[in-house]
Amino acid sequence: MSWEISHGPVSFRSLQEEDIWYQFTWFFYKSKKTQTYKFGLLKALLENLYNTDYHLELTYNQIGYAFVKTYWNLVVRHGLKQGNQNSGVAGAIVKAQQEKQIPVTLSFDQLQMNDQIYVLEKAGPVMKKYVFGALYSDFEGKLYGFDRRKHSEYFRFHPEAHIFLLKYQRLITDLVNYHLAKMIEQYNPVSKDFLLEKVESIAQRESLSPYREILLSRFENQCFYCGKALNTSNAQTHVDHFIPWSLVQSDNIWNLVLSCRTCNLNKSDKVPENYYLDQLVERNEYLKVEEALIHEDRSLYNYHSEKLKLLYQYSEQNGFEERWSPGR
Ligand SMILES: [Zn+2]
Repeated sequence: MSWEISHGPVSFRSLQEEDIWYQFTWFFYKSKKTQTYKFGLLKALLENLYNTDYHLELTYNQIGYAFVKTYWNLVVRHGLKQGNQNSGVAGAIVKAQQEKQIPVTLSFDQLQMNDQIYVLEKAGPVMKKYVFGALYSDFEGKLYGFDRRKHSEYFRFHPEAHIFLLKYQRLITDLVNYHLAKMIEQYNPVSKDFLLEKVESIAQRESLSPYREILLSRFENQCFYCGKALNTSNAQTHVDHFIPWSLVQSDNIWNLVLSCRTCNLNKSDKVPENYYLDQLVERNEYLKVEEALIHEDRSLYNYHSEKLKLLYQYSEQNGFEERWSPGR
């Protein structure tokens, strides 16, 4: 497990901004289903960008204070769960609060100094144990190097990553906050109407069935991916966004294919292998020939295969690194 890593050096590689953007994109894309810890640590690091020494080092106390403060305010003051249950850091903080009978209405900054220290002593070691290794391995040492072992402990930013964070501090902070909020929303459903999800899916069409009809009526009666014959029932014949909707944010017929239920569910938010791109380009050429379709649906009007290829190529830069094929 990556959190078990107790130490790791700063990557010796000199980094271009593009490398660091890539790392962040990949991180945000991949970290959708983990705990809130990594975002909490990133927040703590962003808060401490100006507190480093000449070696770009921070102490675990500096980071711990900012980290524990965030969790206190989220978990105790606002009563927000950070996972399916409040284990780890959140659990340690709640326990410290109960032991010391600290009023839950206080923000961390309002706590008396000795109470702050008490909470830090309880939660700090848990943070140190579970959080640094996990984020370290996600960034492969391109964000920081660290050693959390007792007699050799240090935490040091990668010099170029540090500059990067200074330069894009507000943007990265917004991204971290967004992903943290989204994750917290999942664990604390106040209603079925998630606000962030609403904002995100505002452009999504209610139904893709008109496209199903168009595609079925033209030529496709088999799954685009596995080739299985499709029956025409809506439950079994899915309309799939070849490049995931979460990236294109638009329903264009040149990006829509018919797929069997199994392939559609299995593919989910992934980009198919190159072979299927070629297939789609070919299919779209065929679609284009059907003059009538251009009038039926103007989304084919501005289509060009180069555009699709570019989108496919850039999907990787946008964090869709893994290439999918049926049976995976
Ligand atoms: Zn299939």
